[in-house]
Amino acid sequence: MIEVINPANEAVIRQLESRTAEDADAGVARAKAAFPAWKRMPPPERTRVLRHLAEKIAAEHEPLAKLESLNTGKPLACARAEIGMAIETFRYYAGACERLLGSTIPVAGGIDITFHEPLGVVALIVPWNFPFTIASWKLAPALAAGNTVVLKPAELTPLTALEFERIATAAGLPEGVINVVAGAGSVVGRRLVEHPDVAKVAFTGSTAVGREIMRRAAETIKRVTLELGGKSANVIFEDADIEAAAAAAPEAVFDNAGQDCCARSRVLVQKSVFERFMAAMEPAVKAIRVGDPMAADTVMGPLISADHRRKVAAFVPADAPVAYRGTAPAGPGYWFAPTVLAPVSNHDRAARDEIFGPVVCVIPFADEAEAVRLANETIYGLSGSIWTRDGARALRMARAIEAGVLSVNSNSSVRVPTPFGGMKQSGFGRELGPHALEHYTDIKNVFVATGES
Ligand code: NAD
Repeated sequence: MIEVINPANEAVIRQLESRTAEDADAGVARAKAAFPAWKRMPPPERTRVLRHLAEKIAAEHEPLAKLESLNTGKPLACARAEIGMAIETFRYYAGACERLLGSTIPVAGGIDITFHEPLGVVALIVPWNFPFTIASWKLAPALAAGNTVVLKPAELTPLTALEFERIATAAGLPEGVINVVAGAGSVVGRRLVEHPDVAKVAFTGSTAVGREIMRRAAETIKRVTLELGGKSANVIFEDADIEAAAAAAPEAVFDNAGQDCCARSRVLVQKSVFERFMAAMEPAVKAIRVGDPMAADTVMGPLISADHRRKVAAFVPADAPVAYRGTAPAGPGYWFAPTVLAPVSNHDRAARDEIFGPVVCVIPFADEAEAVRLANETIYGLSGSIWTRDGARALRMARAIEAGVLSVNSNSSVRVPTPFGGMKQSGFGRELGPHALEHYTDIKNVFVATGES
């Protein structure tokens, strides 16, 4: 059984039967049977079906947001925004069905034509931190490109995925096009990765599991895209608007209680403004309202589980250099106060490993060259920010930092029409924007002899 818990009060919300490897096989078989007709459906018709699905999800925006908040502990306002982004993602890719354009290439003796062919059955394996949103980033382009899917939600947060399956059925999606199999990663996830009829695995989760998936997928030469962990840098130069950077830095790491792959969990601050920055950030950290996810003024909810809270707490031992911290309720619930560690060396464990909780390391640097070195001194390369008023420096830094998604004088990471994904051990492949479609299709090249020389 899967016991689904409300992390804000530790109450059991629902008990579900955990699906088995045989259930995964059945999901793949249904998706395989549905693939030929879905692939052949005329693109305008597929667009119509996906638009209808988007509007059906939109009709349940509020109940889905409430359910996501209940299951993850995230503030309801955040859950509303996330479900809103999922709806936008379905709307965006619905229009893509008719835009999978190939090319015609003049060559000697004839002409080449390329086609973007769907892959077949695609397994989508997603984490617990943004359950429905991340699922939508994979579902919408996979379906638009003509694939059928098996979605495996995280054990801790299966509820909105199951609701999605109900909505898709009610919206009239052909039987077998969308299959949700909620079970353990080591059972259902593993089976999907090994299944010979699965053409591709689109995975978001930890770097450790990503490594294992890549290894196992090699057996059947599956395509994989991996959206993995991060340890992103928020680089603040002395010429920046220090007060604006300090006001924005807490949200950049404490959003979703720090359980965010894009969390700017290393704040690199130029030495000349270090004390000023630390002083300016303190009231912003202490003002964070941690508490009831359903309350309108709550900014931060609990961590996802007792287990995860233990892992996060291990990064803040008794002798940790805590500069200051916010407050959190006593419990029940898996609460953890936003915590600022400073000054920290880039080599300390808290600065090296992904904490995935509300703990940030502030690290001083002397000059631009050192900022680049520190930002890149990590196995990860997902996200990051650069705060400066010098436009040329902003561009130099943006080119030099090894990360897939950067922002200047902002902490924004995801927008539906723009590519999102990591470099280095944060993974490969891109989600969102037109780029995601490339990862759900293969290019077929057809040569037509024209008799010309
Ligand atoms: P996780 O790797 O433990 O689990 C992710 C998913 O993989 C779950 O559905 C899980 O059941 C499944 N899984 C576990 N073992 C598996 C196996 N052997 N085979 C197949 N599937 C398996 O990650 P998590 O704890 O749920 O999520 C947190 C991690 O996700 C963090 O490292 C975070 O940075 C990362 N993340 C990355 C992004 C991104 O876009 N780069 C976004 C969100 C989260």
